[in-house]
Amino acid sequence: LSDRLAETFKHLRTKGKLSASDVDGTVREIRRALLDADVSLDVVKQFTSTVRERALGDEVNKALNPAQQVVQIVNEELVAILGGQQRRLQFAKTAPTVIMLAGLQGAGKTTLAGKLAKHLVKEGHTPLLVASDLQRPNAVNQLQVVGSQAGVPVYAPEPGNGVGDPVKVAKDGVEQARRAQHDVVIIDTAGRLGVDAEMMKQAANIRKATNPDEVLFVIDAMIGQDAVATAKAFQEGVDFTGVVLSKLDGDARGGAALSVASVTGRPIIFASTGEGLDDFEPFHPDRMASRILDLGDILTLIEQAQQAFDEEEALKVAEKLAKEQFTLDDFLKQMQQLRGAGSIKKMLGMLPGAGGLRQQLDQFDEREIVRTEAIIQSMTPAERQNTKLLNGSRRLRIAKGSGMTVTDVNQLVQRFEQAAKMMKTVARGGVPQIPGMGPI
Ligand code: GDP
Ligand code: MG
Repeated sequence: LSDRLAETFKHLRTKGKLSASDVDGTVREIRRALLDADVSLDVVKQFTSTVRERALGDEVNKALNPAQQVVQIVNEELVAILGGQQRRLQFAKTAPTVIMLAGLQGAGKTTLAGKLAKHLVKEGHTPLLVASDLQRPNAVNQLQVVGSQAGVPVYAPEPGNGVGDPVKVAKDGVEQARRAQHDVVIIDTAGRLGVDAEMMKQAANIRKATNPDEVLFVIDAMIGQDAVATAKAFQEGVDFTGVVLSKLDGDARGGAALSVASVTGRPIIFASTGEGLDDFEPFHPDRMASRILDLGDILTLIEQAQQAFDEEEALKVAEKLAKEQFTLDDFLKQMQQLRGAGSIKKMLGMLPGAGGLRQQLDQFDEREIVRTEAIIQSMTPAERQNTKLLNGSRRLRIAKGSGMTVTDVNQLVQRFEQAAKMMKTVARGGVPQIPGMGPI
């Protein structure tokens, strides 16, 4: 998917003003790329018609860089389908928090149980795993292995009790967690190769009996076009509060994610990316969208910034941005490097969504740099690293030292914080909000 879209956008990026046929051609390519990636047809149709409508609208016409604006729109719409914000696990008000896993056989539930347990332990929780998959002969044992790898106990039915009742095991498991004061219970359940009524009923009964705070539907990202039918069946049969995409380390990168998120309206909470217990991460819609698009905006920014200062420096800044360590020192350094080159305008002009900045750019005042320098240079190294240190008396001292007013200092700090926030968003591949930002 990524390569294909990247090709399309590369073509777009070299164009100036866009005609309706440019937009149509691009939308056609996006459509083909998404279908190739096994995104379901309905989702593709809806997606491309939204993109087309917006791409032909005013925001693109008036944009500084129309092609880039289209890329932005595609990115925004992808993020929106993928759930917008990152969604965290919901914990119960009174422990234990019950998390039930559901999904087809082989989807990655048992593996996820171990990953999730390990992740939760790291965050200071004390999870208990519950083996409610009594379908496969080896299932209980598999969970025990995973549990010991994660360093987490497993509640399993007594051996020699015949087949056992998975609903009872789940219930008893939650009871056991309460007794032993585990604050989270993760219930592993059985799956079938295909959706079947009996399995669905069993899962629904486990849900009823344990009243989970989260029901996580685990789905293999490589499942392709079957993703939609499977997700719908589980939504109707058991219903779930969130989705876990497994096997994202494989080839199919975005298709299932888009389809499932769009069709069920449920957030994707985690991504599983390998067989090891550490191959697991919280799901970030914006990062997934960038991965699908394969063109984090930050790359563009770096590309262009190279014209103003050297590549190494740009990479360093980008790294810092990504790690959220962009400090006033960096701010100052960037400014000094850009000074005189008249490049600040250029750089800001390239920030996605900077169309609205145009006017402010035109009013840009070089003297601002001199004033900013004076203020930052009156700060201690610690203050430049961390603007949170800047209390009233420090601000007064800085104002005096730089021959400026406290208001000037306040304004600079505020602008820096806005810029840092905006750049952080860009670094993560998102769309920056630029609330009335003055020149940097
Ligand atoms: P379950 O039937 O839903 O419990 O699925 P399992 O957890 O037993 O996983 C089925 C197979 O998929 C196992 O061989 C796992 O090692 C493998 N698996 C699970 N998650 C991932 C993943 O994220 N990436 C890869 N490559 N393999 C996975
Ligand atoms: Mg299993």
